[in-house]
Amino acid sequence: MKALKTAVSLVLVLCTAFAFAACAPQTSTEPSASESASSAASESAGASESAAPSESAAAGTEGNVLTLGTNATFAPYEYYEGDEIVGIDADIAKLIADKLGMTLKIEDMEFNSIIPAVQSGKVDIGMAGMTVNDERLQAVNFSTSYATGKQVIIVREDSDIKSADDFKGKTIGAQLATTGDYYVTWDYVDTGLAQIERYSKGADAIQALAQGKIDAVVIDNEPAKVFVAQTKGLKILETEYALEDYAIAISKDNNDLLQKIDGALQELIASGEVQKIIDKYIKAE
Ligand code: GLN
Repeated sequence: MKALKTAVSLVLVLCTAFAFAACAPQTSTEPSASESASSAASESAGASESAAPSESAAAGTEGNVLTLGTNATFAPYEYYEGDEIVGIDADIAKLIADKLGMTLKIEDMEFNSIIPAVQSGKVDIGMAGMTVNDERLQAVNFSTSYATGKQVIIVREDSDIKSADDFKGKTIGAQLATTGDYYVTWDYVDTGLAQIERYSKGADAIQALAQGKIDAVVIDNEPAKVFVAQTKGLKILETEYALEDYAIAISKDNNDLLQKIDGALQELIASGEVQKIIDKYIKAE
């Protein structure tokens, strides 16, 4: 288990430096993954030179609207402030739309529905603190990564779980179809060492943990901090579970849009505007 865990972490770290498809994990659990993987990094490698984002508007999309599919339950990346969806992903998407001369429209949906919505063209792009992995690369293309995340373990303050090595015999919670779900499934459930409870929202997993119904939750570190700050009696373990890259999902059928989005994103990364947004939502510790 440890080996797989380390392998996944290492693979994801390496993916920051090399083309995604070349170093993606081999394990496959998603039934929808059927086509052969294609590398977003290699397809978009020429995007910054070939795309002219400020002049290009609306190619491959309905009118002049850029539709973002997200799951607004994941602060600080996407969440509601009143009626409005805000957060790192929403703000970055807005800047990309501005650069492309488009109007951003956000559609809130289940996390599990985002990739199918991108594939079917229901939305143009998917952003949801979404980790690039091999299974998803078979279904969609990804932009350049704009942020990194970590899977962490949340337990009750009095828990005897000190790291993932103590998961044996326990029930672990995760959000359905997230990488936390995959890692726990691969490392502990498929091997018969532990059980998993899957929830459609991270917040529901946190409530179940607080109520003693499950023993730990594996989830992304920044949402973990927000959940733990809002819930009494929980803590995040110091040990990380896996390092990940977040990127924008775009249909494999819309290479033109991939290049435009990636070109705009690369400019926003180079100008420091992406970092400014991240710093606005994530305060240095
Ligand atoms: N980063 C995780 C994933 O991509 C969780 C994302 C989320 O729950 N919004 O699976």
